[in-house]
Amino acid sequence: MAPSNEDSWLGATEDWPDHDKPWFREALRMARRAGWFCLPFSGHSALKVSCSHPAKQDRPCSMIIFSSGVGGESVARELSKKIRNCQHGDRRSSIVEAELLLGKAENLAEAAHRLIDRDVSFGRADAAYARAEELIECLSECTDEINHLFAEADGFELDAKSAAEAAQTLLGDEVVDLTSPASDDVVTRVEDTVQSARTEIRKIGQAAPRRTLKAHLDGLVARLVALRSRLTEGKQ
Ligand SMILES: [Zn+2]
Repeated sequence: MAPSNEDSWLGATEDWPDHDKPWFREALRMARRAGWFCLPFSGHSALKVSCSHPAKQDRPCSMIIFSSGVGGESVARELSKKIRNCQHGDRRSSIVEAELLLGKAENLAEAAHRLIDRDVSFGRADAAYARAEELIECLSECTDEINHLFAEADGFELDAKSAAEAAQTLLGDEVVDLTSPASDDVVTRVEDTVQSARTEIRKIGQAAPRRTLKAHLDGLVARLVALRSRLTEGKQ
């Protein structure tokens, strides 16, 4: 295997042979981008790449690339290293510099992405903490109100018990048939009793005692109206 002749070297702007193997195409693309020269071997699926034209540079960086064979994937990596390490001419150092700068820019861009992620996540964390603190504050306010309501309910329950005891004392034997005296039952009983009293009062012949008892009866009728009204208003 030998180069056809020195005039067959192809510059970076000329058409280079193509191949269907991806790693082969990648290696050639890289060399071309770096301004290297290419020398196809006639009759073989291989070629030589060189950082400079051999006529203009003594012992230039070079590499033979085979389109087949094992370990082809590492060829692109190896060539990339040669391109970076090439010390021939200013053009080469600009390429290396540009690649370094691009690599650095990639890193910086990635770092910027992560910093933005950081800011977004810190922002979300702050919002979550703030909401949690609001809820804790609300919870302590709610606890105060809950305690107040329990105390109030206890007080009302005591009022209810003492009213029930007073009623029980007043009712005495009147409600032995009721396990738990309901207020409207008792009001009905008041009505019945007032009605019976009215009937009895009508039977009284003497005017003076009848008038006194009638006045008392009228007072009770007024209280009955008030009781009925309280029952309708929801036992206020
Ligand atoms: Zn070189």
